[in-house]
Amino acid sequence: MPGYELIGEEEKQAMCDIFDKYGGVLSRRGNLSRRNGSFKVSEFEKATADRLGIKYAQAVTSGTAALKTALIALGIKPGDEVITQSFTFVATVEAIVEVGAIPIVTDIDKTLNMDVSDLESKITKKTRAIIPVHMYGSAARMDKIMKIAKKHNLLVLEDAAQAFGATFQGRSLGSIGDIGALSFDFGKGVTTGEGGMVITDDKGFYERAREYSDHGHQDNPKFSRGEDTCRLMGFNFRMMELQGALGLVQLKKFDKALEKQRENKARIIDGISNIKEIELREFADKEGETGDSLIFFLKNKDKAGRFVKLLTEKNLSTKNLPDAYKWHFAGFWHQIFSKVEIYKNKRWENEWKKSSELLTRTVSMPIDIKMSDGSINHYIDSIREISTKL
Ligand SMILES: *Cc1c(COP(=O)(O)O)cnc(C)c1O
Repeated sequence: MPGYELIGEEEKQAMCDIFDKYGGVLSRRGNLSRRNGSFKVSEFEKATADRLGIKYAQAVTSGTAALKTALIALGIKPGDEVITQSFTFVATVEAIVEVGAIPIVTDIDKTLNMDVSDLESKITKKTRAIIPVHMYGSAARMDKIMKIAKKHNLLVLEDAAQAFGATFQGRSLGSIGDIGALSFDFGKGVTTGEGGMVITDDKGFYERAREYSDHGHQDNPKFSRGEDTCRLMGFNFRMMELQGALGLVQLKKFDKALEKQRENKARIIDGISNIKEIELREFADKEGETGDSLIFFLKNKDKAGRFVKLLTEKNLSTKNLPDAYKWHFAGFWHQIFSKVEIYKNKRWENEWKKSSELLTRTVSMPIDIKMSDGSINHYIDSIREISTKL
């Protein structure tokens, strides 16, 4: 996942170019007529859309902003119910609450993504949209989710923040539903430090996303910016030129990085085959995953805890599970659910038992782009050895 591993001279040069070659114009706001309308953020949008095989992309300031902007673009209104999953980064549910909608949360299955058998039972008359989250670079069961959405006439927003470049049945994640949200924060596959993007094939959704993220500006060619037309209340989620420049460089490096990461993972998987104590995560589409992490289930919570302790002793770390479990499992989010009427008198901590049972015995280990033979061997040997000591 970490695009930051690759940050180097090219990124530095691209940033300097904004000052040295492009006159220090740091934002495209109000400057559309300058630089012949050529902006790094616009180039980054186009390059991302091309890479992911989608028509429209709107850059914003973060993945969280992308989720909120996408919900607004879809026309989600206060009181609407939006279904997402118990295991995600807290941002997904924050965005739902931010637009005044009601978060309805499903369990997950062994893909660590939405449990589709739980999805349909959560649909009510108020449901307007589903947000499947593609956790750790791997697809949710998009075929089933799209089918259910179609049957109940629901919109689908894919949270592809962790899944840049991953696919489901050959299609880029984020491009399958009605709209998708990407993140370019420092821990993601392509990084601009902070940043995000809304992607869609629907011109209407795109225009609403563009307008919302720029105070409602329609960029009406008949008027100056000061006299621009407006049809909806917006906000400011504009991305800076410096981020656009960084994103373009990162994007150029991405495919090689993806290949390397997948290769590293294949070697590790090869090395840890036939270990009885661990059960590997399932995939909705194994070929399409990014390979940015190795995830497995232990028999119980105690064994998982012991596994992690022994990993630490070998100077190996985990990735979110268990180290940032609190920020990725809905059962902890008192700061959100205490504000939402339907959860006020409920003990939501115990709502998603199937998920917590699974997540508390899960270990996730990062797979880097740059791994030496030595570090791959240490990784494999450590897992093998620890598995005999549980
Ligand atoms: C990172 C992340 C986000 C939010 O992205 P930011 O750019 O950090 O705001 C949203 N959803 C998921 C699943 C994420 O991992």
